Amino acid sequence: MSRVYNFSAGPAALPREVLEQAQAEMLDWQGTGMSVMEMSHRGKAFVSIAEDATTRLRRLLGVPDNYSVLFLQGGAAGQFAGVPLNLMGSNPRGDYVVTGNWGKKAIKEAGKYGDPHKAASAEDTNFTTIPARDSWDVRDDAAFLHYTPNETIQGVEFHDTPDVGDVPLVADMSSNFLSRPVDIEKFGVIYAGAQKNAGPAGITMVIVRNDLMGKPQSGCPMILDYQQQADADSMLNTPSCYAWYICGLTFAWLEKQGGLDAIETINKRKAAKLYDFIDASDFYTNPVDPAVRSRMNVPFLLADDALNADFLTKAEEAGLSTLKGHRSVGGMRASIYNAMPEAGVDALVDFMADFEKTHG
Ligand code: PMP
Repeated sequence: MSRVYNFSAGPAALPREVLEQAQAEMLDWQGTGMSVMEMSHRGKAFVSIAEDATTRLRRLLGVPDNYSVLFLQGGAAGQFAGVPLNLMGSNPRGDYVVTGNWGKKAIKEAGKYGDPHKAASAEDTNFTTIPARDSWDVRDDAAFLHYTPNETIQGVEFHDTPDVGDVPLVADMSSNFLSRPVDIEKFGVIYAGAQKNAGPAGITMVIVRNDLMGKPQSGCPMILDYQQQADADSMLNTPSCYAWYICGLTFAWLEKQGGLDAIETINKRKAAKLYDFIDASDFYTNPVDPAVRSRMNVPFLLADDALNADFLTKAEEAGLSTLKGHRSVGGMRASIYNAMPEAGVDALVDFMADFEKTHG
């Protein structure tokens, strides 16, 4: 069996050790005689799996007691609705900072439930920058300010948490969740689809400050109602059990790596290797303002688009998979989440250097 270096933006590579543990436990989870996929979510075994995952996530992120941690379904896109449905109960004004495709989708969805307002947008630079904080037009009475700390498609990342005073800060952290430490107390709500840094697709983590729950819009579906889900330990209905289990294994793996400080150091080094190589080359370019380049998703263009197909074919042959860029940006994109070993980035850089030599 040979495994490739998988640069997919999501679903994405998982740590090999996690997959091996899941394989070892597939037929008989810890003497229960059944797979985690076959267990009742109300049974003792699965409840212990869910509790363990939740405890590990709280510990990794240092989640304070006045926040709830939920494991929901419907993806991060479900939370494009979940946020307005929960936070616009008495105040329909929600402000959005749009720094890429996902922020655009979030504000559009919020329009179905309230009165969203674009506080800032980087569309005029084709989403290669982040508008300076002092240019944002945040309404004093906004129910929340929503932003996307890492835009997966454009490869644009906030390297500091913006200060919005008393307005609750809401973050779609899908693509840089658990890649670096965060100060949870600066946020009202954080949500993240699992399929980049936390586990398989099908489960979405929501971390919500307790005082923001319990005042949803009257039409809020129960499965998106944060208070109801918190009261039911995210088991108002059947949760995404197997994905939750794999998330728990991934959290344990992260703890073994030394936690978020340690993984941040590695992620910084991996990203710097790739950006330094791109910047030093005349053949590859990355269009993003260097101050806001993503550590997780690195888009890059070749000097000649006509070479794209050949680059992708040869990369696949070299065991470097899923490097095609998003259609709205073109070129290539290397997603280098936590589970991408540093050796994978080294292999990519070596391949790019060789390709440049023969085609540049
Ligand atoms: N937000 C961001 C930043 C994303 O990268 C994605 C998925 N790539 C989404 C939202 C949508 O996530 P989902 O497919 O889980 O709904």
